[in-house]
Amino acid sequence: MSFTLNDLPLRDDLRGRSPYGAPQLDVPVVLNTNENPHAPSPALAKALAEAVADTATGLNRYPDRDALRLREELAAYLGHGLTAAGVWAANGSNEILQQLLQAFGGPGRTAMGFEPSYSMHPIISRGTGTAWVSVPRDADFRIDVDAALEAIAEHRPSVVFLTSPNNPTGTALELADIERVARAAPGVVVVDEAYAEFRREGTPSALTLLDEHPRIIVSRTMSKAFALAGARVGYLAAHPAVVDALQLVRLPYHLSAVTQTVALTALEYSGELLGAVADLRRERDSLVDWLRSEGFSVADSDANFVLFGEFEDRNLVWRRMLDRQVLIREVGPPGWLRVTVGTPEEMVAFRDALLKATGR
Ligand SMILES: *Cc1c(COP(=O)(O)O)cnc(C)c1O
Repeated sequence: MSFTLNDLPLRDDLRGRSPYGAPQLDVPVVLNTNENPHAPSPALAKALAEAVADTATGLNRYPDRDALRLREELAAYLGHGLTAAGVWAANGSNEILQQLLQAFGGPGRTAMGFEPSYSMHPIISRGTGTAWVSVPRDADFRIDVDAALEAIAEHRPSVVFLTSPNNPTGTALELADIERVARAAPGVVVVDEAYAEFRREGTPSALTLLDEHPRIIVSRTMSKAFALAGARVGYLAAHPAVVDALQLVRLPYHLSAVTQTVALTALEYSGELLGAVADLRRERDSLVDWLRSEGFSVADSDANFVLFGEFEDRNLVWRRMLDRQVLIREVGPPGWLRVTVGTPEEMVAFRDALLKATGR
């Protein structure tokens, strides 16, 4: 019997859609999903194991529904005078974004983003029945703020996504531009700062805007800088009223006791983890310089990845890289490819494979 999802009573607006699907391939050099290449140190791994063992003795009970201790520690990490009341945590920033759309989007409402940007923003929007409006970035991958304000006036979005530093381009936004958007937007403005810790010296965070703009929400994650993608911990900073709104849509006990323990333990090692981030930023800057010296076009990057091109047939280059055991990402505008910054050894393999794949 051939039975497919088309035979199911699937929502009409989900028919024909594709799921998120970055390839998960078993190759030696994986540089395609902006993960941190550094595994937890032996000391951190031991601390995690001990903390989880301790938590295990209480797993018959539900976890702290409000994850209060974790939110306190995340607030302390962020600084800017934040307290637990203005911080919320969930299973990855993807769940944070989903909860935001459940609370502020939904049927009859619109979310807006400036693309190319993070593919999950439209996917999560549509998943919550929120219409998606895409406004193109300019040729330098910047947001044309005048065009943004026009689109906001036309579509009156309930949710505006500003990704800074942007994925897949690496482009960071000026605070003045974020403020102009926030003043014009009728709803909430979500600044997705998944890569904040990788930004270059002098690039500000939208956290500094929260006091004056109660409808700005800054989304962060432990997946990238904290090298904790496998643990699924994301969080936001915003006015406490935003946290009140999310309590209405979150599932009770959404953040497991194990996850809370793991996140708290990793935060105790933030010094060590952020030291590795400094190395990755240096590696990123030298990668940008090297790509330019080889004649590639490269977008300025404030993140742990670099978008480079331009290729007549980027899929061919991507496949030739894969043939050489280096997995990068075919994403972003046609003709461009994205590579995540890995360890020095991985970057040697990347450079070598790229020169061969492009016949340089
Ligand atoms: C990687 C990434 C995230 C992180 O998602 P998690 O669910 O926290 O792992 C969020 N936003 C952007 C733009 C990203 O690239």
